[in-house]
Amino acid sequence: MPGLSQQRCFQHSLREAVARCPECRRFYCRECVTEHDDRLLCAACIKKLAKVPLTQRNLFVHALRVVQVAFGLVVTIAFFYTVGRQLLAIPSTFHDGSVWRTSGTTER
Ligand SMILES: [Zn+2]
Ligand SMILES: [Zn+2]
Repeated sequence: MPGLSQQRCFQHSLREAVARCPECRRFYCRECVTEHDDRLLCAACIKKLAKVPLTQRNLFVHALRVVQVAFGLVVTIAFFYTVGRQLLAIPSTFHDGSVWRTSGTTER
């Protein structure tokens, strides 16, 4: 297998190749490759890949929205659950007013 230094750029036959595009397996010079997701890709492959992340991004945004709605729902349920628990924790004497009679006035 020939070394990278012996390879020439796919687009510039006079330039030495410095990187190999992992997508199309062609060699390119420094000018022809761009870093994308920690990989050096050629312009053609970036263009090719650029169409995919767009839908992925939309999916991600959609998923994020679902998560937000679910989280909001959980928070709401947790809130009402806590409120319900606190209402249940209040002694029934509070509701018929006997709490006030025993602790305050001498009305009885
Ligand atoms: Zn490529
Ligand atoms: Zn080049």
